Amino acid sequence: MTKVILITGASRGIGRATARLAGVRGWSVGVNFVGNAEAAALTVAEVEAAGGRAVAMRGDVSVEADVTAMFDAAQAAFGPLDGFVNNAGIVAPSLPLVEMTAERLKRIFDINVYGAYLCAREAARRLSTSRGGRGGAIVNVSSAAARLGSPFEYVDYAGSKGAMDTMTIGLAKELGPEGVRVNAVRPGLIDTDIHASGGRPDRAASLGAETPLGRAGTAEEVAEAIVWLLSDAAAYVNGALLDVSAGR
Ligand code: NAP
Repeated sequence: MTKVILITGASRGIGRATARLAGVRGWSVGVNFVGNAEAAALTVAEVEAAGGRAVAMRGDVSVEADVTAMFDAAQAAFGPLDGFVNNAGIVAPSLPLVEMTAERLKRIFDINVYGAYLCAREAARRLSTSRGGRGGAIVNVSSAAARLGSPFEYVDYAGSKGAMDTMTIGLAKELGPEGVRVNAVRPGLIDTDIHASGGRPDRAASLGAETPLGRAGTAEEVAEAIVWLLSDAAAYVNGALLDVSAGR
């Protein structure tokens, strides 16, 4: 069945790969980004080339008005929503907690926790059958960091993803009766720009080599799990935390 979905942070990395795979399925995709309009335009072109429809929409997930506007824009373009991917997230340079500034901590939790909760709330409002929605699925993009803790790198980021896991468990119970499944994927070391944004462009390749599968993962390999969780093939999967991390 063709679907209408919205993906936050779809201009690059895992979000873009998910948008592209949704396009292969013929789905319509709201492509959110925050600063990189050129990259978002490329995602839109890739979704369309794959056979889907897409529209780019700027918005910061940690700003409530932006969140509301991006859901409105997706629905204005394609009609009622069937799925939402809570994917936008950031890291900061590797440091032990004792050296982290208050500003850094606030920014990580603003985007990764407050933003993710705002977006999930908005998706719940739009998808819930008792509110006029069609039901559907939410996929939260958490991280293996939630269970590893990321010592000496970013315990702030790891904790933010722990919050996402806990939200997944609770929201799955709140929204199941509303026809909405809520699941999370927990990627491991995936080759995207996020590692360079944390100051270590080679992080996925070097640490990936130490995983049981001996390599970093690709954004496409995570997208497969996300699109499966969104799809009707996962109709009885709710509240799951799916590791896509090579057994790490
Ligand atoms: P990425 O390549 O760095 O891309 C990040 C995306 O998020 C970009 O599209 C960026 O938009 C967007 N973004 C950042 N801040 C935003 C904000 N405030 N509002 C809206 N969009 C925002 O990251 P990635 O590796 O694909 O990561 C995607 C998700 O997977 C994140 O939640 C991350 O924590 C999680 N994850 C990644 C890995 C990994 O190894 N890569 C592992 C585990 C979990 P612009 O292009 O406009 O800047």
